[in-house]
Parts: sequence; C-alpha cells; structure tokens
Amino acid sequence: MKIAVIGTGYVGLVSGTCYAETGNTVTCVDIDEKKVKKLQQGEIPIFERGLEEIFERNVKQERLFFTTSLAEGIKDAKIIMLALPTPPGGDGAADLKYVLGVAEQIGPLLKEYTVIVNKSTVPVGTAELVRKKISNGTTVEFDVVSNPEFLREGLAVEDFLKPERVIIGTQSARAAKLMENLYAPFTRQGNPLIFMDERSSELTKYAANAFLATKITFMNEIANLCEKMGADVDLIRKGMGSDSRIGKRFLFSGIGFGGSCFPKDVQALAKSAHDVQYDFAILNAVMNVNGKQKIRLIADMKKHFGSLKGKTIAVWGLSFKPHTDDIRESSSLYNIDELLKAGAVVHVHDPEALDNVKKLYSNKINYFENQYDVLNQADALLIATEWPEYRNPDFERMQKLMADKLIFDGRNLYGLNAMHELEFTYYSIGRKTIKK
Ligand code: NAD
Repeated sequence: MKIAVIGTGYVGLVSGTCYAETGNTVTCVDIDEKKVKKLQQGEIPIFERGLEEIFERNVKQERLFFTTSLAEGIKDAKIIMLALPTPPGGDGAADLKYVLGVAEQIGPLLKEYTVIVNKSTVPVGTAELVRKKISNGTTVEFDVVSNPEFLREGLAVEDFLKPERVIIGTQSARAAKLMENLYAPFTRQGNPLIFMDERSSELTKYAANAFLATKITFMNEIANLCEKMGADVDLIRKGMGSDSRIGKRFLFSGIGFGGSCFPKDVQALAKSAHDVQYDFAILNAVMNVNGKQKIRLIADMKKHFGSLKGKTIAVWGLSFKPHTDDIRESSSLYNIDELLKAGAVVHVHDPEALDNVKKLYSNKINYFENQYDVLNQADALLIATEWPEYRNPDFERMQKLMADKLIFDGRNLYGLNAMHELEFTYYSIGRKTIKK
C-alpha cells in the first residue's frame, strides 16, 4: 500500500519507517528543507533506539522516501497520515494551524478515494474540522480517521512495532477496513485494535496522558509529604505498587514530568473542558504542582549554600527522559534557568542531548562529553535525568573530582544505605537527607 506521512518529526519518522518495515511504500513529507535533505542523504535527525537499522533497510529496499513537496508525497497514496505539531497556543489550547493548514492543501490534490488519518494529538472535534477543510477543496470521496499515537520517545520503535493497543476512530466501514489491513502486521499477537467513534478516539489520547501525568504528580505530592513527616517515599511506592489495582509503574517520584506531550496535553485538555463549561479541577492542580516540583531542589540548594552566586553546579542529564535527545519542557532546563538566575556557573553532561541544548544556551553554560569531566571542581552535582550510566557511577572518582561532595538527586537513583557509606551529602526526593 502507498502511504504518505505528513510531518517527519518523532512520530512521523518512526511511524513512516515502521509502515515501510511491513512492506508499504512510504513517502514522508516535511516543510523543513534541512531535515528532508539530511534524510535523503541517509542521516537521521533524531536519536531513537533501533530506528537506524530499519531506516537504512527500508531506504535501501526503496520503500521509504522523503520530500518537501506535499503534491509529490501524497501522489497515489491510499492513506495520508498527519503527524504534525499541535503545540499549545497562547490560551493553552492545542494550536491546530499546522493540521488545518495541511488539510486545506490536501483537498485540491486528491485524485481518488483516500483516507486521511490524524496521528497528531488533537482536541475533540478536530476530525470534523479537517473534513470540512478538505471538502472545501475537492469533490473526490475521502474519509477522515482519528488514530492517536501512543509511542514513547526512547522506546518509540518498539512501541510502534508492538503496540499495546491501536485506537481507530471512524464510523466509515471502508476506512476501517483499510486501517485494519494497515495495522494487521502490528497486532498479530492479539494486542487489540480498538474501533470507536472519532470524538471518543480523540479524547482517549488526552485522557491517557492526563491520567499518567496525574499519577506521577500524585506520587510527587506524597514524596513532598514524606519529607515533612519523616517517611520514605520509596518504601511507600513499594507498598502501594503491590496493589494490583494501583500497579507498580509511574509511581517513581522526582523533579516532575516534562517532554513534548504530558505538559501540553494536560493543559489542552483543561482548556477543552473549560470551553464546554467543565471545571476539570484536578488538571489545574497537576499543572501547578508539576511546575513547582520541577525546580524543587533549587530551594534545598539555596538553603544549603546560603547563596548560589559563583557556585559551580554540574548537571547530569538534559533530555526530558533517558534514551532520547528531546529536551522539550525538560525539568533539567528549568533548573538550569534557575541556577543561572541565581548567579551559579553551570556545567552540563548528557549522552545524547548536548547538541540540542547548545542551540538554546550557547556559551551561557559549559558542555562536557564525559560524565566525570563535568564534575571537576564542582560544588555540587544535580541529577536531572535518569540515564542508565548515572545509576552505578564510580563514586570514589566523583569524590576525588568534586570540590564539595554534594549531590542533589532529582531522580532518586541511589539507595540511602549505599549513600550512608560514602562521603557525600545527599539530597533526594521524598527521603531523608544524608548530611556529612
Ligand atoms: P515534531 O515537532 O517532532 O515533528 C513535527 C514535524 O512536522 C516537524 O518536522 C515539522 O517540520 C513538520 N511540519 C510542520 N508543519 C508542516 C507542514 N505544513 N508540512 C509538513 N511538515 C510540517 O512533533 P512530534 O513529537 O512528532 O509530534 C507530532 C504530533 O504527535 C503532536 O501532536 C504530538 O502531540 C503527537 N505525539 C507525539 C508523541 C511523542 O512522543 N513525540 C507521542 C504521541 C503523540
């Protein structure tokens, strides 16, 4: 089947490559000329585990193409996937200008029946808006389907090839059949393809992300309470997580969630609810608490030092989570901003995200390729992202390198018993501080 994917970012590139992997011929379209040029030269502009191998294979087999031309990209496509950005607008609502702008251009280019699939995260009612925009420009038959994407950055290829479920929002039997064929190779092991109406499908995505963001935030509030009450959030997590109604996942406390999805989706859902005169109170609380949680350790740091002016703070981790180079809404950057505001000198390390951060901060901070070099003469280490290489470091080497043996751990990477044995003063989230 010939497929066009419009928007070749994290979602578009991964999904396009994975559709090609199952035998489809896929053309990915993007307006970013530099990005398309790189892709045409065989260079992948993002870091995503496992992508390179299938990307190279499908390019070689001539099943995966890239272009900046929408007309060229959608020529003969039976399915057109929209994987376009839906960033927050000024009022928090998802900005639909990219999705609706492309929908407008698609109409006059349609030659025969086509299914236009929305993979972007969009508010309820967007499928109807897309349908209207397209029908303004064509008399050719088409269907608009909602197919929200649930992949996790860092595990995107695995998630896409073996999804826990695929949601298809459509009431057209013809479109449903095509979608079923497209996803048959990905759902062979019995993971469900769930059909529903478009509005429910659009809301499912927001509901899932808002629920996960709430779960994380709830645990962060418990952690903050633990510190005031002398309890240990790690033990509470274990106690709570053994209840199968609660589950073990998404119970880790830390310096809040970031990324391109949770913050914007919680905000957009709250705004959508507000628009239909529903006060979704819990979502406002989630956003408030998460905003404060992201920079929670800065207060501890200021208290510890008195003033941060002139202190050298090393930061481990810049991406919003491990295994990605994505720094959008990363808690780490919020901390860096606070440190700079307080007059600290900031040294940073990250295994994949240094280049992206350089584009934002240029010479305001100092960049290190090695996780130990960044510690040289540092007054403190702030751990902002739980990359695996930070989990079991050479503590003796760290003790020798740092000017002051002081760790602020925003991801609770180390056990308190182990930290008692070392020379570090150790602050973490929802647990006792170890002072030396
Ligand atoms: P992204 O910013 O990484 O990629 C979007 C791409 O669209 C960019 O390359 C941009 O140049 C391109 N683009 C913009 N306007 C265009 C146009 N007119 N024509 C062609 N290309 C155009 O975004 P993303 O992270 O891939 O997210 C896309 C959508 O998927 C969003 O709605 C997001 O909420 C949703 N989503 C993202 C994830 C994730 O983990 N990143 C997961 C699930 C869902």
